[in-house]
Amino acid sequence: MASPSATVYLSLGANLGDRLANLRLALARLQTLAHLEEVSSLYETQPQGVTDQPLFFNAVCRLSTGLEPQALLRFLKNLEWEAGRRPGGQTWGPRPIDLDILLYDDRLVDAPELTVPHPRLAERAFVLVPLCELAPELRHPLLGKTMEELLASLGEKGVKKTAPTGWEKSDGNEGIAGAEA
Ligand code: ADP
Ligand code: MG
Repeated sequence: MASPSATVYLSLGANLGDRLANLRLALARLQTLAHLEEVSSLYETQPQGVTDQPLFFNAVCRLSTGLEPQALLRFLKNLEWEAGRRPGGQTWGPRPIDLDILLYDDRLVDAPELTVPHPRLAERAFVLVPLCELAPELRHPLLGKTMEELLASLGEKGVKKTAPTGWEKSDGNEGIAGAEA
């Protein structure tokens, strides 16, 4: 049976090399495989966990895709490789790109290599702030709270909006401007 389209939210982060170019490359590649519906503003954010590393650029996007979660994860890992990331780096350490699946419809995935919803979504202001731009009313399928409620509990510390990149507004048909590699 053909898989119907799912609505997926991805987190994009980068703190090595040309951070904006790395994110643009990722968005451009995503447009080849999925319908990229909307991209949040770009944020500059304080690193969490390992704090002695460069500031991150972070954004969130919404796409619709027929790819199953595991296939999407494989695509994202290949894309991370293409953008210069190599496996085996420090946990939460510096990286040219980090692509995480935040939500995949209301699906729950609990596999060794993939957990959806992303388990640290509710602890990360650098995820919730851009996610709330796109989907404040969206309800977390496990926690039962909206993204706006989760952000209100957490606060917005360490997350600063940057100048517009050109990809923030989509006309829904022509692709996302400013997402060219
Ligand atoms: P983080 O994104 O938390 O900084 P990494 O990017 O180093 O950590 O990811 C480590 C592993 O997490 C990946 O190899 C991937 O298999 C796994 N993983 C589990 N759940 C997810 C998810 N929802 N999205 C992306 N990767 C995930
Ligand atoms: Mg990751």
